[in-house]
Amino acid sequence: MKKRSKKDTGNKLVVAVLASGLLLSSTNLYVSASETISTDQIQQKEGFVKAANTVPKLVNAESIDAVINAMTLQEKAFLLVGGNKGGLTSENGEIIGGQSTKVPGAAGQTQAIPRLGIPAIVLADGPMGVRISPTRENDAKTYYATKFPSPTVLASTWDADLVKEVGDATSEEMKAYGIDLLLAPGMNIQSYLLNGRNFEYFSEDPIVTGKLATAFVNGVEENGVGTTIKHFAAFNQRTNNNGNMIVSQRALREIYLKGFEMTVKEAKPWSIMDSYNKINGTYATENKELLTDVLRNDFGFTGFAMTDWEFADRDIVKQMEAGTNLLMPGRAAQSEAIIAAVESGLLDEKILDRNVKEILQIVVQSPTFKGAEPTNSPDLAAGAKVARTAAAQGMVLLQNKNQALPIKNNVSASLFGVPVSEINTGGRGSALVYAPYQLGIAEGLRTAGLTLNESLLTKYDQYAADLRSQDAYKGTPGTFGSVGPKLPEMDITEDVQTAAANTDIGIVVIGTAPGSYAVDRAKEDFYLSPSQKEMVEKVSKAYRDQGKKVIAVLNVEGPVEVESWKEKVDGILLSWQPGQELGNAVADVLTGKVNPSGKLAQTFPVDYTDLPYADRYPGSPDGFPYEEDIYVGYRYNTTFNVKPSYEFGYGLSYTTFEYDKVKATKKFKNTLSISTAVKNTGKVPGREVVQVYVSAPDGKLEKPSLELKAFAKTAELKPGKKEKVTFELGAKDLASFSEELSAWVLEKGTYTIQVGASSEDIKDTATFTVAEDIIVEKVSDVLEPGTAIERLSKR
Ligand code: BGC
Repeated sequence: MKKRSKKDTGNKLVVAVLASGLLLSSTNLYVSASETISTDQIQQKEGFVKAANTVPKLVNAESIDAVINAMTLQEKAFLLVGGNKGGLTSENGEIIGGQSTKVPGAAGQTQAIPRLGIPAIVLADGPMGVRISPTRENDAKTYYATKFPSPTVLASTWDADLVKEVGDATSEEMKAYGIDLLLAPGMNIQSYLLNGRNFEYFSEDPIVTGKLATAFVNGVEENGVGTTIKHFAAFNQRTNNNGNMIVSQRALREIYLKGFEMTVKEAKPWSIMDSYNKINGTYATENKELLTDVLRNDFGFTGFAMTDWEFADRDIVKQMEAGTNLLMPGRAAQSEAIIAAVESGLLDEKILDRNVKEILQIVVQSPTFKGAEPTNSPDLAAGAKVARTAAAQGMVLLQNKNQALPIKNNVSASLFGVPVSEINTGGRGSALVYAPYQLGIAEGLRTAGLTLNESLLTKYDQYAADLRSQDAYKGTPGTFGSVGPKLPEMDITEDVQTAAANTDIGIVVIGTAPGSYAVDRAKEDFYLSPSQKEMVEKVSKAYRDQGKKVIAVLNVEGPVEVESWKEKVDGILLSWQPGQELGNAVADVLTGKVNPSGKLAQTFPVDYTDLPYADRYPGSPDGFPYEEDIYVGYRYNTTFNVKPSYEFGYGLSYTTFEYDKVKATKKFKNTLSISTAVKNTGKVPGREVVQVYVSAPDGKLEKPSLELKAFAKTAELKPGKKEKVTFELGAKDLASFSEELSAWVLEKGTYTIQVGASSEDIKDTATFTVAEDIIVEKVSDVLEPGTAIERLSKR
């Protein structure tokens, strides 16, 4: 673009535009000594926005200030509240509320202000793919989207490149459907096993969460559409949705905020969603310490913050001042309250300007603003391919006695368990995706070539349908409804002997209660139901009596108890909720087409009572103190010697790996280099997840036994092949949070690096020393609990 010269025309301020297109106001607008052009032309060409008697328009980032300058208080108040506020009109009579929803079934949209060239951008869920209505009124076309694996599955892949691919594939569907902003990824910590929304989140570990959420955000945003990382923060239960979560500053910084910090810094997400709950006495959406001091000042967030789909009233002034830019889904009364607050002097209009600006800075990047037209024809075959790969890569082989797996694809099998009929591909609620199809395990195995006991499958279908038609088992309709309670298992006494006699293998599918989204899992749901136990028992006996193997597939949303029954089966495959390709992906892994390489990103405890919060969760709305503090998940198990059934980082393969000795920097200066190599010593190709844990010395601060600091997944290694893996860690990666100093500090002493295949399977160690205490980063001294917490301590 040509650079234009600035010209002084006496008292008329004339504005020059540099390549970036900045404009100030004028009564007349000149662009060069020789050229005068109309404002329309200027807007089109350069991004000039305001001229004599014209209304400035939003044309690019540089035009934002002028647009805000021209906005009425009403317009600002409208923009700060989500769309659909019927009835309100702008100063010049244009109707700026009540516009129809642009994309049916999308979760929301922002307010359009046509007078100023501000379009409504569209927001859609969510964590497992784009959630929009699959059908539209008077329209024969369908609008399906790929149902990708849940973030829990994605975390189990430990494969940042693959997670990025899922983000990339999701963004293609967003663009095809005219979605500007995805309401995902969810990235809260899976600190409480029963949280009903854990499936929307990655891991109990902040590093896994932070690295993979970063990959996902990059995957989406590199294609010009946005993400919304959520739910900020400490939203770890559904029961006391709006309750007060009381968390120490250290646990917040090291566990609950850490992943958000990493993703904000490394991926610069367009937006963030505040959670419903209070944090240390203040609602997240009203929490200036959280949204301004931590998010903006400490983390450097440059996007905008929106509320969750909040129906409870919050203090509008506090929300605006705290740094919540957008109130979603938006009610007219909220706009009116903003106007009233400014008019009465309770709220400074400058705060509105700031909040509007942060929204508009994203609006100008959106496809809608840039005039993109939805094609409504996403490449669903491409999505399915990515979904299948990610699903298979995220499955975790928990047990494989006497190499029961993989099975040959010409064997015959009988499938047991209600989930063979009621397939569980993902959670419900806002993470629901209307997929073009969902493949059950039976279908996947059949397609892979197995011969199935079809009459038993038909019986399961009939059984499930019969029960669901009864009042006691009916669900409530709709996205946010439920599919009804978990069904008891069918009595297989009459079938199991014949099945065992006539088929080579027994496959038992274990399900949890279908997630109803709005509630946490029940404690009982951690355990197999009596009828599920009976089923496992019967299948096990019948098949083993015949000298045949039994495989269990855990088609579950979160960890379940396995200790009491795992000996009864030969193989256990954890499929989680892997999206629409469930059946294909299970078949891929069971038949060895894909060698499992998933690892647990969440601990499987032996018993619910082993959890440090077992007798306290979920507390009360008045306050739920996070007493286990920094000892979340494996940090607790390893520090307090509580043996889980399957530890964090665990997962088997059909091959074996050998690790080289670990090489590492001996004296820490600014960075720490670590390297090892992994060799496939087995007979089939496979991938390994190399995990780097560090045990820090106790100094002024106590430290967990070990903490994950880095990880890498090898490429698929052929038998005999080796791959070198290297890691670079900085002081911040190794530091702990000191509340006393309000800083990340790296305490002096000897640290042990533990490189392994899981948090318990450490292959080699190395040590390094830190000579002096290092204050790595000072941060805002905020978010104090205000109430004493009985913090778990090893001291
Ligand atoms: C959920 C959010 C979701 C929003 C929009 C809320 O109920 O908590 O995660 O993005 O709805 O559907």
